[in-house]
Amino acid sequence: MTPSLYRDTWAEVDLDAIEYNVKQIRERIPAHCSVIAVVKADAYGHGAVEVAESALKSGAQMLAVAILEEAITLREAGFDVPILVFGRVAPKDVAVAAEKDITLTFFQKEWLREVKRESLPGPVNLHMKWDTGMGRIGLRTEDELHQLVDELKEASNVKLTGIYTHFATADESGKDYFIMQNERFDKLLQAFRGMWEEPVAIHTGNSAASIRYPEKMHHYIRFGISMYGLYPSSTVKKEQIIDLKQSFSLHSRLIHVKRLAPGESVSYGATYTTSDYEWIGTIMIGYADGWIRKLQGIDVLIDGKRMPIVGRICMDQTMIKLDKEYPVGTKVTLIGKQRDEMIGVDEVADYLDTISYEIPCMISSRVPRTYSGK
Ligand SMILES: *Cc1c(COP(=O)(O)O)cnc(C)c1O
Repeated sequence: MTPSLYRDTWAEVDLDAIEYNVKQIRERIPAHCSVIAVVKADAYGHGAVEVAESALKSGAQMLAVAILEEAITLREAGFDVPILVFGRVAPKDVAVAAEKDITLTFFQKEWLREVKRESLPGPVNLHMKWDTGMGRIGLRTEDELHQLVDELKEASNVKLTGIYTHFATADESGKDYFIMQNERFDKLLQAFRGMWEEPVAIHTGNSAASIRYPEKMHHYIRFGISMYGLYPSSTVKKEQIIDLKQSFSLHSRLIHVKRLAPGESVSYGATYTTSDYEWIGTIMIGYADGWIRKLQGIDVLIDGKRMPIVGRICMDQTMIKLDKEYPVGTKVTLIGKQRDEMIGVDEVADYLDTISYEIPCMISSRVPRTYSGK
């Protein structure tokens, strides 16, 4: 399960939690609706292969990633389910996708024209992206839709298998913008039905939309952040519609413990000075691991108790003010649970004035991921 480690810092991913979270959403969405497990960015920093395995085991039917490299990694790991790439892949690289049976996203007629000229090993599966208000990628008007469909009808090396859009505000308490995006989608869909007869898979919702508006979901949902046990926003968390289990935790061990006299300082810039005799511990994690300098002052857990990081965080090491002497090797939890205390991903995100999505993503690949459960 755990590879041998030469350093005392590691992230732990609870795969039982992933399975639990997928089951929770499957109970909530309509029976005709399936789950696309979103495992882009190495599964939001959790490890794409392991998470994909757990998600599929708990009933997800498709995988989605951001870039072609991520899709190839999964295919080569042996997954044979459909894999969708959300981003734009250059026409010259479409042959690679076709060869590996990877589904691509498209939304530009120029792109289709270029792909038509490529010689592919077989037809490439495509999902068409509609921009109903996210303002990122996708076609926006019925006119563009017409042009794209005309282009599509003349292309023999592509196969349209899906249509989707993405919501900008599904996690916010105000519903107007979400409703407006849905209306635009329905209108485009109505127009599309008049020009296309073959069946296509339709999907609109991310975690927030599928949790809050399950009745609005079509054939699939795209389940990302909440598969990892995190809520898309504090609004969704407060609504308590769904129970989720956080999968990610981050740990280290004391590698040095010492008692400092009053008036001694700790770390670069001597920004922390002891006011009394104090026990100071050192752990091997720093900003090169993604434990960034702005986290100076946040608590960690030792022996089920909260203790603060003192002094500047270094590239590879961090100091903690201990409440007493602890032996070298004592476990330190930076994210996760110890007894009744918990430092959630959300707490770290709040401390940094950002969203939970960013936290496991920013823990660098130097920190080994280990897996529990399964
Ligand atoms: C990342 C992403 C998702 C997943 O969103 P969550 O909020 O993490 O559930 C869904 N769809 C697209 C297009 C995405 O880029």
